[in-house]
Amino acid sequence: MIITRKKDLKEIEEYIENFDKFFLIGCSECATLCGTGSEEAILNLKQWLENNNKKVTGWMIAKTGCQILGTKRELSQYRQDIEEAQCIMVLSCGAGTQSITELFEEKPVIPVNDTLFIGNMRRLREFEERCRACGECFLAITGVCVVTLCPKSMLNGPCGGYKDGKCEVNPLRKCAWIVAYEILKKRGLIEKFYENILGPKDWSKANSPRMFKEK
Ligand code: SF4
Ligand code: SF4
Repeated sequence: MIITRKKDLKEIEEYIENFDKFFLIGCSECATLCGTGSEEAILNLKQWLENNNKKVTGWMIAKTGCQILGTKRELSQYRQDIEEAQCIMVLSCGAGTQSITELFEEKPVIPVNDTLFIGNMRRLREFEERCRACGECFLAITGVCVVTLCPKSMLNGPCGGYKDGKCEVNPLRKCAWIVAYEILKKRGLIEKFYENILGPKDWSKANSPRMFKEK
């Protein structure tokens, strides 16, 4: 999932100072799981705006904010509320926010959240980065994502700097390669791992902006 965090209200105050009427859009997917795009998040923002003498002309929660056509369809019933608003505030990730930018090119669109990373939820509202979307997944070979969990993205074993099993860059964390080794050992895949020396990583596959269209 895409992990998002609500921006500081001081920053948002600066973006909205010249506007009085707002339409709010949340997202029922990752942003709701993060608590940044849910109904509760929208109603809190609405209350805050109203306490600051601003008007909320309406709000909705997109099913999947980054799905442009689906979101366009869902928004069609709110056309009047959106027209009345001077700007739209989006409570989703950057991709969802840009769906709205694309759909309403002439209306200012304000992101309410910062988009942090692709990650997993370990406990309620506690997230860990797990994937850097590198474009060539090695998980079948490495077990855990060493591209992400190792600060040096070492592909074929540890850098040699680890101490007492901890990473030399971040001693609060276990060396990613020890985690990988333990998993591969449990799966009986250590021998196979030694046979699969990975070549230099092709970072061109991670160059932005990337496009993909299924054939
Ligand atoms: S190897 Fe690449 S695609 Fe696979 S989890 Fe890691 S960053 Fe993501
Ligand atoms: S100690 Fe381990 S996790 Fe840390 S940089 Fe070296 S290989 Fe990567």
